Order: sequence, then C-alpha cells, then structure tokens
Amino acid sequence: MSYIFISDLHLDESRPHVTQAFLTFIENISHRAERLYILGDFFEVWPGDDNDSLLSQSIISALKSLSMPRFIMHGNRDFLIGEAFCKQTGFTLLPDPTRLLLFNEPVLLMHGDSLCTGDVEYIKIRDMLRNPKFQKELLSKSLQDRATIAANARNQSREHTRQTKIDIMDVTQEEVVTSMKKNGSQLLIHGHTHRPNVHNVPQINGQRVVLGDWDTHGWFLELTKEGFSLESFPIG
Ligand code: MN
Repeated sequence: MSYIFISDLHLDESRPHVTQAFLTFIENISHRAERLYILGDFFEVWPGDDNDSLLSQSIISALKSLSMPRFIMHGNRDFLIGEAFCKQTGFTLLPDPTRLLLFNEPVLLMHGDSLCTGDVEYIKIRDMLRNPKFQKELLSKSLQDRATIAANARNQSREHTRQTKIDIMDVTQEEVVTSMKKNGSQLLIHGHTHRPNVHNVPQINGQRVVLGDWDTHGWFLELTKEGFSLESFPIG
C-alpha cells in the first residue's frame, strides 16, 4: 500500500486533457493507493465553493465516488477552496505547511510558494491573498466579479513571471533548510515551481522532492514504507 502525492494540475476548462488524465489517474491508483494528497494548485482558478462550472461538477462527482482518504492544500491559484468544497468531495483541508508522521517518518508538506522568499513582490501579494479579511471581502462579491478579478490577477502574475529572473522564481535554499529544521523533517514534498526533481539537502542530510505540473505529462510521488519514487507519465 502507498500514499500518492500530486500538485499543480491547474485544472481548467481550456485543458480538458488534463482533467481526463486526472480522472483516469484516480481510477488507476484506487486499487493500490491508501491515501491521496494534493499539494495545491489543483485548479487553475477557484473563485469560491459556489463555483458551478461543468469542470467543478465533473471533478466533484468523480471525487465523491472515491473511497480512499484524501487531503488537499491550498495553492496560490485555488486559495479560496473552502469547507463546502471539501465536504462535497471528501477532502480534508491541510494547512500549509503540514508536518505528518508517515510510515514513522516526519514528512513536511508544502505548496512551495512560501519558500520562494527571493521574490519579495510575490511574497507581499501572497500575504494579502491569504489574509482572511481580504478573502471574506472577495467572497462577498458576485461569482462573475470574482472570475474577472481572478483573470486580472492571473494576467498580472504572468507578466510578473515574465519579468522576474529565473532563479528568483525558485525556492530559496536557506528557507528550505530553515523550514525542514524547524519541523524536524528530513523529507520535504512540495510543488509550485514546476521543476520536478529530487534534491539532496546536505545541511540536514535530507531530501526535497518537487512535484511536477500536469500538462504534457502527469507527475506523482508514491510513498511506501520502503521509500519514495517520483514518477511521470505522458498525457494524451
Ligand atoms: Mn503554485
């Protein structure tokens, strides 16, 4: 039996192949996986739990029929996922970061954006987006208004990404070490940067696994009592 970790599917109506790949994926893993963890940016945008798009309807109905325990963490795209969505889909919402004892090993789970401290401008925006007061105000607007605000924010974010140096957009190594030390964990799993890889963290004799985003390939990490492996598969 194993635990499966995925992130950054960025599900969106414009990319039905990724939605289909996810639906096939959960069917394929259901016989061997004991738990499913989604570490943020499951959706490209989530305007609120009253989202009644065809995409959200198909995802909700697929997840409803899933029997394995499942957990989800906010990403910077879908930070408005709330209790109603979790209740409908059977997800338990995990705070970012979350430290869990898995197969007797302390494992640290994060979306990953909080590790990118070199991007000062982004961290400021992140603080604003995660502010409960800001979120409450946003949710008080109409679904249509929220969709417009989200689209604008997405365009600004693309522009910011275009203008920011590649290394600034990646995690800050000191922040990785600090977080892992603080949580007493030698294994960190996160997404966000879209740079799937397994990195050694020699300062604490640990490892950092970066999950990949789903587009031409799907990515997942499978954790068993023997260890972990980061896998990818082509998406049709
Ligand atoms: Mn992200």
